[in-house]
Amino acid sequence: VNHDGEEATLARLAAHLGPGAKIGDDAAWLDTAGLASGQLVATVDSQIDGVHVRCDRVAPQHVARRLVAVNASDLAASGALPRLGLLALAAPPGYDVDSFLAATAESLAQLGAELVGGDLARADQLVATLTLLGVPARRGPLLARSAARPGDRLWLGGTVGESAVGCALVAAGGGWRATDPAPHLPPGLVLEHRDAAQRALHRHLAPTPQLALGQHLAGLPRCAALDLSDGLAKDLTRLATASGVGATVDLAALPFSADYEVLCQHLDLDPLGLGLGGGEDYVLLVATAPAHNLTELGLVPIGWCESEPGLRARTADRAVRPLESSGWDHLGRLCPPAPKGRQEIAQGEAKRSPG
Ligand SMILES: [Mg+2]
Repeated sequence: VNHDGEEATLARLAAHLGPGAKIGDDAAWLDTAGLASGQLVATVDSQIDGVHVRCDRVAPQHVARRLVAVNASDLAASGALPRLGLLALAAPPGYDVDSFLAATAESLAQLGAELVGGDLARADQLVATLTLLGVPARRGPLLARSAARPGDRLWLGGTVGESAVGCALVAAGGGWRATDPAPHLPPGLVLEHRDAAQRALHRHLAPTPQLALGQHLAGLPRCAALDLSDGLAKDLTRLATASGVGATVDLAALPFSADYEVLCQHLDLDPLGLGLGGGEDYVLLVATAPAHNLTELGLVPIGWCESEPGLRARTADRAVRPLESSGWDHLGRLCPPAPKGRQEIAQGEAKRSPG
């Protein structure tokens, strides 16, 4: 992909990975002796410039870490732990492929996994696809989204909506430069709540897969789980449909980060709307029998499953209304709208020549 070609890039990656590296042949031989459970769990996910991430704002190493995290989040939702990764990377000329590969390998290593192969190609825009193979964290059935039953309580593994605010801040000019330890806010944006905005950017650009939580949940007798990638409403619809149940969400119980609502207000964003449909929260949504109290695992109860199909929301005044399943659609827009009244910043940024 670089001007000095694929061989040189791979040689540098091999040097970076060290003597045990499994890359170099046409295909990787995998030693299954360490995978004693007899089961592999496989997932694949992409980061595409302009769809999942903005490469003019976010440096290659941070895109690579995000790619690993969103894949690992799918394994977390299955109660599995990552072991082997295969990367297909198509990048435009001049893209820092070396940094991307090194960060991919490092992020995988941090999660106990290894980069064992892949493919490099040239493309007009970045398309990075990681296939991640994992092993079940425990013996017994894997977690699945189809295991919910009427009467189950619904739980969330963390706060919702914050990532969507981070996405809006990227759209307005925020991002993460190669050597910076933290993301930067949109230039020229005067913010009273800089810490909350900084956290929202970090949440969006560097999600944390809930692998330890998935491991705990896999130990429950029966538990439905999936990771929130497309917004709570849409992902809850998936869980409910797969399980043949309906669900009611208690809106007053939705967990939000510190200063999230005041930050939304400041940016003219709808906190509840983003909490239900913002997407890319990468926390686990869980349904399990009411006998199991999951607060000790850090989960928050947000509602319950019912035999009556469909999604409902209980509002603060205890009225129950139908809930639309309008989560974020990866096939459509990149982000929620940029903060209102600050579009001039976003447009001014968009006009600058590609870097
Ligand atoms: Mg998922």
